[in-house]
Amino acid sequence: MRILWAPWRMSYIKNADRMHGCFLCESIGKRDEDTYIVYRSEKVFVILNSYPYNTGHIMIAPYRHIAELESLDDKETIDLINTMKKSLRVLRDVYSPQGFNIGINIGRVAGAGLESHLHVHIVPRWGGDTNFMPIIGGDKVLPEDLTTTWRKIRDAFKKS
Ligand SMILES: [Zn+2]
Repeated sequence: MRILWAPWRMSYIKNADRMHGCFLCESIGKRDEDTYIVYRSEKVFVILNSYPYNTGHIMIAPYRHIAELESLDDKETIDLINTMKKSLRVLRDVYSPQGFNIGINIGRVAGAGLESHLHVHIVPRWGGDTNFMPIIGGDKVLPEDLTTTWRKIRDAFKKS
């Protein structure tokens, strides 16, 4: 398996243990342009990962603050899967990725930065990922800026 090199995640990883509150719950009540929510479905919503592994890295979460997949009720389960399918179509339209990583980290030991609020990661992949990203400021490789990504993906959801 090829591992993505994502040095901008270090500030997140270093701060993860000191975070309090739930940024997903906090995002729900705020303006989408401030939180990078790209789509609100009936039971779940889609938000950009602010510390992306790749451009277009999104997360899908239920509005309810629940930790376990088993805690989703039937409506949430259906909406989650349908929203995953819709998200893949949107990401294909916008970025033409060659593949995706889709995953859920359950529990801190499994790598969950926010373990108390279930969320599904979708990360678009391209052959030679880092070549896709512009190199900014010498030694740092960064994905497309988040505001641009947010606008593109939100618009694509609107049209879908
Ligand atoms: Zn929450």
